[in-house]
Amino acid sequence: MRELIGPCTNCGKDVYCRDGFLEGAYINSKLLCIKCAELQENPPQK
Ligand SMILES: [Zn+2]
Repeated sequence: MRELIGPCTNCGKDVYCRDGFLEGAYINSKLLCIKCAELQENPPQK
């Protein structure tokens, strides 16, 4: 079962909740998809 939560505030991709697991994260009360959440937590190093 998949429930649409809303668009990622960073890239605009739809974020879903699947079987109670949020396929993304709330960071600073902003909804982010998994990819953007990973980038927020682990910024790419140069
Ligand atoms: Zn995103």
